[in-house]
Formats: sequence, structure tokens, C-alpha cells
Amino acid sequence: MNTVHLGIGSNQGDRLEFIVSSLPRLARAGLSVRKVSSIYETEPVSPVPQDPYLNCALRAVTRLSPREVLDRCLAIEAAAGRVRRQDGESRPLDLDILLFGQSVITEPGLTIPHPRMTARRFVLTPMAEAFPGTRHPVSGRSMRQLLRECADPHQVVLYCKAPPLSL
Ligand code: ADP
Ligand code: MG
Repeated sequence: MNTVHLGIGSNQGDRLEFIVSSLPRLARAGLSVRKVSSIYETEPVSPVPQDPYLNCALRAVTRLSPREVLDRCLAIEAAAGRVRRQDGESRPLDLDILLFGQSVITEPGLTIPHPRMTARRFVLTPMAEAFPGTRHPVSGRSMRQLLRECADPHQVVLYCKAPPLSL
């Protein structure tokens, strides 16, 4: 079994419902969710003007490969009605693989750790809350340290506590 950390975001429609309903979908796809962070409301980080996001982070265990996890995540995003037109635009659901154990992967269409995670307060805030001691495999820094060092000025505000998890 491998441990995987995902970041989830939504800024369209019923944002909380898109996030909460993705959890059983991940479970059915082979990702056994073990812990979910609180949900935060966050200022968009994008050149394209758009509404605020809700974001959270989770830890799951899985027998799937990193590529299989990506494919399952993209399918769940598509089922939520996501259409890809341009980078950085609004989306009902965004599922990002942040960490896959201590693996470092650079393949076409798949980079792990997620290349922008250390620069994004909306990723590091939920990660540092729920998984403060988890380390980034390249820098060796913990999520707590990375958040402390993060210079991202975009606002991140607590929205609600973690969604219930039926294990
Ligand atoms: P972002 O989440 O950075 O705003 P997108 O959700 O539009 O970007 O992702 C676009 C592409 O990024 C996906 O089709 C996927 O192939 C690729 N990608 C590369 N690495 C990852 C990763 N670690 N997690 C999720 N997607 C990734
Ligand atoms: Mg994404």
C-alpha cells in the first residue's frame, strides 16, 4: 500500500457539495481516504479573474500506481462536469496529486510532488493543519516548515471543519 496526499479545490456551483461528494468517488476508485483537513476559502491564484475557491487536502492509502491515481482523479473531475479549455480557469472540481509517498516522478503529464504546491498557501495551509510533520521528498522540509516559509500573499480563511468520513 502507498500513501498519497491529494489537494481538492472547487470554485463553481455548490463548492462544498463537489468536494464532499468526491470522497466516496475516490473510495470507489481505489483510494481509501484516511484523513481530510478542514475546508478553507481561498483567493484564486490565476491571471484569469474568477470566484473564490474552497480547498482542502486529504491522505489516502492505495494499491494504485501514481498514473492510475491521476487517471482516476481526471475521470472524477470530468464526472463533476469539468471541461478543460484554458489553464487556470474556474472549475467545479480540481483533484491534484500533491505527494505519493516519498516518490519523485517527472513524466509527461505527471509531476510528483505537485510542482506548485510549495508556492501555494491554499495547498500548504490544509496540509500543515492535517499533516504537519509530513515531509516534502525533495527539500526534506515538513508541511509546517513550508507553510511558515511560504511567501504567497493570497488569502486563505477557515471555512468549515473537515467533512465527515465514513470509513
Ligand atoms: P492545476 O491543478 O495546476 O490548476 P490542472 O488541474 O488544469 O492544473 O491540471 C492540468 C494537468 O496537469 C492534468 O491534466 C495532469 O496531466 C497534469 N498533472 C501533472 N502533474 C499532476 C499532479 N501531480 N496532479 C494532478 N495533475 C497533474
Ligand atoms: Mg489540477
